[in-house]
Amino acid sequence: MLIFKTVREAQSACAQLRGEGRILGLVPTMGALHEGHLSLVRAARAECDVVAVSIFVNPTQFGPNEDFSKYPRTFDEDCALLKREGVHMIFAPMVEEMYPAGATTFVNVEGVSERLDGASRPGHFRGVTTVVSKLFHIAVPHKAYFGQKDAAQVAVLSKMVRDLNFPLQMVVCPIVREADGLAMSSRNRYLSARERQQALTLSRALGKVKDAASAGESSAEKLIETARGVFAEEPEVRIDYVALVNPETLEDISDTRNGALAAVAAFVGNTRLIDNLLL
Ligand code: AMP
Repeated sequence: MLIFKTVREAQSACAQLRGEGRILGLVPTMGALHEGHLSLVRAARAECDVVAVSIFVNPTQFGPNEDFSKYPRTFDEDCALLKREGVHMIFAPMVEEMYPAGATTFVNVEGVSERLDGASRPGHFRGVTTVVSKLFHIAVPHKAYFGQKDAAQVAVLSKMVRDLNFPLQMVVCPIVREADGLAMSSRNRYLSARERQQALTLSRALGKVKDAASAGESSAEKLIETARGVFAEEPEVRIDYVALVNPETLEDISDTRNGALAAVAAFVGNTRLIDNLLL
């Protein structure tokens, strides 16, 4: 397994592989890897000849009071996991390598970037689209793998790929959960035992939404009320948003009969968690 720290090395290694006619899959991550990340790697391994994984905690997608400095960094463990999965290449640049002094160019997908997490975390998606654009230019993958766990990110990046004609296919993989339903997340490491229990409120609320929708309820207002009812039972968990939106535009909808994304974000202690469900 090759580990590259510089753009130039990663770019030329990927170019060579493509030149040899190999199908290249890219899995962008911020490290602190878990089974959710590994599910993307496995999907990429199944569909591509070579798989590159990027590990980069991207400062431009964190707000000034967010957890950039304390975000878990477990590079050696991550490398061991990826080696076992048969990954061919890791790209793990330093911040100065990705953002050399004087870099002032950003990619912004207007509209959709200001909804859901974009509304709660101003500038977050501008950071995501900028770094993912850079990774696409470095690796030029045939396919890029993302998790449905970050549904708003999927909407923003899919639009970016369309709008900017990136010559690649986006592959979206299902949410991987713990046995009790909690969506896997690098940030789950922050939770105390008590918070870990409280964190189940998110998946429980979505479970109730799913039940109500299966029983025929299609009013977004009613379904949101259902979810909020579950959060009301755990008042220490603070809702950031509970929303029913169009999965592509992230605009609020009033009726779910043509499909919907049920999305929740909430603070458990100081940890902000997200989860969602496609109806
Ligand atoms: P991150 O390291 O948090 O930036 O995540 C890297 C990629 O892994 C993103 O495309 C995420 O959506 C995806 N991912 C994170 N957690 C999960 C999960 N529980 N299930 C599926 N994909 C996930």
